[in-house]
Amino acid sequence: MPLLKSWINSANDPEGSFPLNNLPYGVFSTEGTEPRCGTAIGTMILDLAALEEEGILAAAEDPVLDVPFWNDFMELGPEVWAAYRTKLQALLAEGTGMDVRAALEPHLVPAAQADLHLPFLVSEYTDFYAGRHHAENVGTMFRGAENALPPNWLSIPIGYNGRASSIVVSGTPVRRPWGQIKAPDETLPRFAPSARFDIELELGAVVGQASDDPMTVAEADAMIFGYVLLNDWSARDIQAWEYQPLGPFQAKATATTISPWIVTRAALEPFRIATPERERPLLPYLAEPGPMLYDIDLAVTLAPEGQTATTIARTNYSEMYYSAAQQLAHHTISGCPMNVGDLLGSGTISGPTRDSRGSLLELSWGGKEPLTLAGGASRSFIEDGDTLTLSGAAHGDGYRIGFGDCTGQLIPAHADIYGR
Ligand code: CA
Repeated sequence: MPLLKSWINSANDPEGSFPLNNLPYGVFSTEGTEPRCGTAIGTMILDLAALEEEGILAAAEDPVLDVPFWNDFMELGPEVWAAYRTKLQALLAEGTGMDVRAALEPHLVPAAQADLHLPFLVSEYTDFYAGRHHAENVGTMFRGAENALPPNWLSIPIGYNGRASSIVVSGTPVRRPWGQIKAPDETLPRFAPSARFDIELELGAVVGQASDDPMTVAEADAMIFGYVLLNDWSARDIQAWEYQPLGPFQAKATATTISPWIVTRAALEPFRIATPERERPLLPYLAEPGPMLYDIDLAVTLAPEGQTATTIARTNYSEMYYSAAQQLAHHTISGCPMNVGDLLGSGTISGPTRDSRGSLLELSWGGKEPLTLAGGASRSFIEDGDTLTLSGAAHGDGYRIGFGDCTGQLIPAHADIYGR
């Protein structure tokens, strides 16, 4: 599919993130106004709540976009999602009549003047562990090379139930957590700020439909509204001590940052790509009816406070072993109810090479091989004041489907957690 041209010139920039092919959904506000639903187009945000209020473009009879979340719109279902997107694209397409342009222009806000908020109410949050290179790297460090992949890994999309309350929007500072830590050479645990605080580069799937029934992979795919970048901040020293036998708990509870725009499944459709060949046949309920991953280039930068950013990793979402549709289908087979606004983290996305690893734990190999940054500083894990930024884009013919940055600065731990 080529670039779809818009009468908004900045949307036709081949290096831009938000062409007419994209139209991601977010929640924005400007000074003195309430947060409301909008879409990014070029360097502008179109106020979709205002379009709904004025009767220019509505998804349903009752308003669903005058609220600071997309959940009510998602509830309307895939047919409404598709019809709304078609009409929205028509309004913004090159050649649209001057009367339509005149009606829309008062509702375009420069993105630089807007604050972005969480785009949806996060109902529940589940995080998976579906990147093979990541699982092998971490497994090797935690359990040794011979036990790197858990015996179930090639059969089950492994996950754990996280905390919806931990989800924050890009730009929110993240405070270094305290916790129980016991290094391998220590006999007893200590209570201290995490000294091995890390990121995980992931993609988050936003579930747009509710269900109490087991779903096929195809049905699960149709329930996914869109995707966001997701940083699963992780305290490795806390994790290493607490994780057996029930998996991560406090190590992952501090914060999980997501990018502010939901890139719709529709926008990503041209970039579908198959999961890798199965080393062990999957049970039939996990069979995919077609390509279920996406070709999305991903990168991570690290900027020490007041310094320029260094790109520390580049990889691609197609490195995953399980797709979000497979993960969601697996999630439903127990009868676990899924809700509109559920968020599924993909698991850390690492590629096969050293510079394609999606966490500092892997990039510095547990701190044994520190990274050297552009300014000469060295890093094994995140230092106070560092800003970590995930970025992502699918590359089409003369256009990019960008996600917008997923960024967060680490602020120091409380000086004394019991001092108040
Ligand atoms: Ca994770």
